[in-house]
Amino acid sequence: MKIGFIGLGNMGAPMAANLAEAGHQVMGYDTLAPCPEDVSAAGSAAEAAKGAEVVICMLPNGEILRKVAAQVIPAMEPGAVLCDCSTVDVDSARAVAAQAAEAGLGWLDAPVSGGTGGAAAGTLTFMVGGSDRDFARVAPLFDVMGRKAVHCGEAGAGQAAKICNNMILGVTMIATCEAFALADKLGLARDKMFDVVSTSSGSSWSMNAYCPAPGIGPHSPADNGYKPGFAADLMLKDLTLAQMAAEAADADTPLGTQARELYRRFVEDEDGSGRDFSAMLPRFESRGRDS
Ligand code: NAD
Repeated sequence: MKIGFIGLGNMGAPMAANLAEAGHQVMGYDTLAPCPEDVSAAGSAAEAAKGAEVVICMLPNGEILRKVAAQVIPAMEPGAVLCDCSTVDVDSARAVAAQAAEAGLGWLDAPVSGGTGGAAAGTLTFMVGGSDRDFARVAPLFDVMGRKAVHCGEAGAGQAAKICNNMILGVTMIATCEAFALADKLGLARDKMFDVVSTSSGSSWSMNAYCPAPGIGPHSPADNGYKPGFAADLMLKDLTLAQMAAEAADADTPLGTQARELYRRFVEDEDGSGRDFSAMLPRFESRGRDS
């Protein structure tokens, strides 16, 4: 397939490289990052999009997606599909979907989970919003870049699934970290705490697969000095998107609101920026009830 790929950062570069390695003809564009091997470099986003059957975006946020969409949509041929894999607000996804439809183009919002490791290994999970027809057209590319693609519904449903999942993740990580810090103060050994909780009703992915306590459970960023992994900054971004969506939809999300505020303080006022999101554990460890 002829593919345009816009945004060749930490996630986009390995995803584009995997498509090229699978034999697709990939033309890439990024304002800063270099093109990976086997991906041809375009001089602009419009040039990368011209003549492509599918244009994939992997960009920082919704504002940049809207800007890039305004450049690529006029360059794309009717019938081609614009597929945004970035994590953006639901409103931006739906607005760009409407512009694509007006221009006779297909649209998918297809944010991912799996991080940079999953992008490099081709094992991402895609959460996809858009029509059956567009999903079927891009599915072979999801198979190359990932292990699983779930068609969640119409335009915007992929972003909705992503922020709901990550709101649960942020809340469970905080709950897991504060429980470890409490266990410490109660004199309960961390390995015993893990043994009990990971096989009991308090278990979650945060505890079982990504344990925030160093030296316990499977290897995780806690065992690597809390180097990300999944940066606290990105968790803050996703929790902020979840709150924007909750406000727009009038949904009551008290724990999501509190999780966003804790990650905001951690990233903006404390030492959380650039650390893994599980570094909430040393944060709680160093605090008392009134701090
Ligand atoms: P990144 O900052 O490494 O990459 C984004 C790239 O977009 C950069 O190289 C930047 O130069 C480029 N860019 C910015 N404006 C542009 C423009 N106008 N035209 C062309 N290129 C432009 O970010 P990333 O880690 O690759 O993340 C990309 C998206 O994936 C984000 O939306 C993020 O939330 C999401 N995501 C990231 C992870 C992760 O672990 N890194 C996991 C899941 C989802």
